[in-house]
Amino acid sequence: MNNNTLASAGSNLATSTAGFNRTVVQEKILTGTDANGGDVDGNITWNWFHNWDITNAVAGGAYDFKSTVMHEILHAFGYTSSTGAAGSNTGTVWNTFDKFLTTSTGTRLISVGGVFDTGLNSALTGGPGVFFSGSNAMAANGGNRVAIYSPDPWSDGSSGAHTDDATYANTMMIAATTTGPGARTLTAIEVGILTDLGYTMSAIPEPSTYAAILGTAALGVTIIRRRRRTA
Ligand SMILES: [Zn+2]
Repeated sequence: MNNNTLASAGSNLATSTAGFNRTVVQEKILTGTDANGGDVDGNITWNWFHNWDITNAVAGGAYDFKSTVMHEILHAFGYTSSTGAAGSNTGTVWNTFDKFLTTSTGTRLISVGGVFDTGLNSALTGGPGVFFSGSNAMAANGGNRVAIYSPDPWSDGSSGAHTDDATYANTMMIAATTTGPGARTLTAIEVGILTDLGYTMSAIPEPSTYAAILGTAALGVTIIRRRRRTA
């Protein structure tokens, strides 16, 4: 694992049909079907080289373990992408997430049948050039398409599979995080994306202590960021 990677996560596709497929974890949650029997449904790889704080009062020089756990688990839930750098998108089997990827003007990157439109390759590094156009995500974003992390050059494990870091700073599902307390609640946009992925989302009251921690966190943000996962 690269030193700049905090953790990575994945879940195999439950099916391999041309078009869009749920992850094994996603399939199990949404349908109750275990697509791979006794095999592991999903996994997270952790980089213990870094300084982690597993408590709620995350120290300033440590990474927020809980926030990163939530981030990684959601990748296994299907908040992830099978897209790759320009030239590599020759397959026809994709994640559910990829069904909603478009250009800034709403043209789908991948057809219903699973064919990637190479004429749109420049969007992959448009910084951001890729957008999530699911109806629930857009409704949560004032009717606008949701920017997906797509810097130039393409960043394997980060591009295509996260909401855009510059647009949605300090949120859970962006590509990188800094030290100190991280996001532990989903934004409305992230809830919208998960709804588009098939989930029924409901609010759970958050502990009052958490709001206080977040209030403090806003003061401790530094400009040093590290990627914290690959998709
Ligand atoms: Zn990630």
